[in-house]
Order: sequence, then C-alpha cells, then structure tokens
Amino acid sequence: MKAVVIEAPHQLAVRDVPDPQAAPDEVVVAVAAVGLCGTDLHIYAGEYDGDYPIVPGHEVVGTIVDLGKDVRGLSAGMRVTFDPNVACGQCHFCRRLRFNHCLNWQGIGVTRNGGLAERVAVPAKAIYAIDDLPFDVAVFTEPLSCVVWGLQRATPALAERVLIFGAGPIGLLMMQAVRCAGAGQVVVTDLQPDRLELATALGADAVVAASGPVAASLMRWAPYGYDMVIDATGVPEVVAGCFEYVTRGGQVLLFGVCPEDATIQFSPFDLFRRDISVYGSFAVNVTFGPALELLRSGAVQVEPLISHRFCLEEFPEALEMALARSEPLMKVLIEP
Ligand SMILES: [Zn+2]
Ligand SMILES: [Zn+2]
Repeated sequence: MKAVVIEAPHQLAVRDVPDPQAAPDEVVVAVAAVGLCGTDLHIYAGEYDGDYPIVPGHEVVGTIVDLGKDVRGLSAGMRVTFDPNVACGQCHFCRRLRFNHCLNWQGIGVTRNGGLAERVAVPAKAIYAIDDLPFDVAVFTEPLSCVVWGLQRATPALAERVLIFGAGPIGLLMMQAVRCAGAGQVVVTDLQPDRLELATALGADAVVAASGPVAASLMRWAPYGYDMVIDATGVPEVVAGCFEYVTRGGQVLLFGVCPEDATIQFSPFDLFRRDISVYGSFAVNVTFGPALELLRSGAVQVEPLISHRFCLEEFPEALEMALARSEPLMKVLIEP
C-alpha cells in the first residue's frame, strides 16, 4: 500500500510499504481522512523522541476492513476513529487515571505507524465507532478531545467571561467548547482578520484584531478582567500577556504548545495577591467520548475549519505549505 514515510528528520517519501497486519487484539482501518497537525510537523523536523522511519498521522477516520482473532464487539465495515494515545493501564500514572502520562505510552502516528497511509493497524481498545457522523466531522475528534481535556483541567463557571488568544482550528474549537461548558461572554483575539471573521460566524461575542495596542479594546468587554483566559497560540509573548487580562480569582489555561526551551516571566506575588490559578493541559485523557458527543449534537461546528484538502501523493506539498505558512491555513485534511 501507499504511505507517507518520514525516513529521518527532514526526509520525506510517499512510497509503497507492506500492508499492516492486525495482531490478535488489533483491527486494520482503511483510512478515509487524516487531519494534519503541529505534531506531524515536529516529527518531520526531528523534534521528538521516537524512532524513524515512521508513518505519521494521528487524527484519523476510516472503515474497519480486518480484525484480529481476539477482537470482540467490532466488525468489518464499521466507520470509526481512534484514540492515538495507547496507555499501558498498569504503570504509576495509569493507576492514578493519568493515562496521558503513561510511562509506557505509545502514540499511533508518533511512536508506531499512523494513518497517513491507505491502511493502519490499531489496537481494538483504541477504536471509537462514529456511526453515521460524516468523516469530515469525525476527523476533528482528536483535536477536540484535547480541548475537552483542557476544559476538564480548568472549567469556566456558568456565565463567566472568557478570553481566548488565537483563532486557529484549536482556538475556535476551544471557543465553541467553553460555550458548551457554560461560559457567558466569549472574546477571541488573533492577528488574522479572516480567522476573526470565522470566529464571529461560529459564535464569538466579540473579536479583537491583535495588531497594535489591544489592551484597551480587550478590557472594554471585561473592565475588571476575564474570569478565564486561554492561550491557544503557543507564542511565549502571548502567554506572558495572559496574566494581564485575568480577573482576581480567575483562571489561566495554557493550551497552546510553546517551544520546548521557551521561558516567560511572571510575578509570583501578583498570582498570590490576586488568587490566580494557572493550568497546563497535555494531550487527551479518555476524552474521545465527550468530544464525539459534542460533534454528534452539533454543539461544536467543525466543517468551516477545513481550509485545504490533499491526497496522499500530494502530502509533500501540504507539508511544505504548512511549514511555510504561505497562505491562510486552518485545518488541512489528507484523504488517502
Ligand atoms: Zn494532532
Ligand atoms: Zn501506563
């Protein structure tokens, strides 16, 4: 079958590889669509610990075409997605329900071959049926389940005011999910006007262009600060600014992924004096179920977030475009 193979850092091929075989507790999924995400770019750039060569792709939807002999409750023809984070269930952290910190963690499309291929083998326990949910919708389950985990870490109380930095795919998923979680007014800020337009269309109460001095316009919507401030940019300067906008007793959720070596300055006295809580949020933790519910109910709209589609052979162009950020980019789908 055809697959995207990252042979080594900065070395990419779309080539034939052996068909994946289902181990006794695995299924083989014929891939319909894969969402491209920052993690894939990091693997390409060599910024991760796994081994090469690797077939990337961890935001995957498709149809079961083969089953290992021990698999129960699944069948060929089922339309599915899967949680790419495979935890051991037995280590120190798994036994404390912190599966996203499993000491023996395996990532499909990260440490073992993923979905940027015609087919992918997946442990049956990772599979979630999507029933008749369109593939274009279900392909957002993984990023949305990261958002759900973030909001399980830190949740706005009913009718609280929320400020979100960043209106990319994640920021706009977050914006819709905080509304479901009970937020009142939700304000979104970003550099790109087209993203802000989309934010408005998807239900932002106010949007603020992040060019020039923004503090005054942001504070217009919350004169005493926001109950919750969420960074969905991963830009250290933006993260450092979050503390300025949070109200006394408020929460800051650091959701965007900053560069590994980035540092910021903050005042511990300020956090003390104003009762500020700061949260990190890593990957997903058994949050595929709630993410699928949000997609099924239509509470979170995802199709407007898709900006580009490529086939498998065009993956090098898709990657180049994503790395160069040469045009306005939202969610990029690869359809094998
Ligand atoms: Zn991802
Ligand atoms: Zn574990």
